[in-house]
Amino acid sequence: MNAILDFNNGYDEGYGVGYELGVQFAVTGVDKSVDPVKDDTSEDIISLGFATYSVEALDYAAYPEDTGLLYSVLGLCSEAGEVADKVKKHVRDGGDYDKLRMGIQKELGDILWYCAAVAREYELNFATIPIVNLEKLASRKDRGVINGSGDDR
Ligand SMILES: [Mg+2]
Repeated sequence: MNAILDFNNGYDEGYGVGYELGVQFAVTGVDKSVDPVKDDTSEDIISLGFATYSVEALDYAAYPEDTGLLYSVLGLCSEAGEVADKVKKHVRDGGDYDKLRMGIQKELGDILWYCAAVAREYELNFATIPIVNLEKLASRKDRGVINGSGDDR
C-alpha cells in the first residue's frame, strides 16, 4: 500500500499561502512488493495529511509524558544516526543497494515519527512544518542566500 502525504490536508487554513504539493511514500510492512520510488502509481493509494499522520502516529507513543521534551529530541537524533549507520556500513561492506534503500526508507519513517513527537512536545503544529520550511527556502532563494549559513538568514 502506498500513501500520499498532502501538505494541504490538515493544516490551519489561515496559515501560509498554501502549496500544491504531494509527496509519496510507501507504508512499509504493508506491501513489500511495492517499490515506493518506482511503483508510485499503485492503486492502493490512500491520502494521508500531515495532521492525520501526526495524530495516528503519536497514538503509538510510549514514553513517559514528563520526559517528552528531552525524549523526543534524543529519539530524533538517534534515528538520524541510524540512517548514517546504514550508509556507513554499506560504504564499508557493500551489499544490496535496494536493501539499503528500503532500510533508509524505514529510518526516514522513524525520523518522521520523531519529528511529529518533537512538534507535539514543543507545542508546534506538525502540519505546518513542511510549509514553514518551504517558505524559508523560497525566501532564501529569493534573497540569494540559499548557500549561506545560519538559521535565520
Ligand atoms: Mg529506526
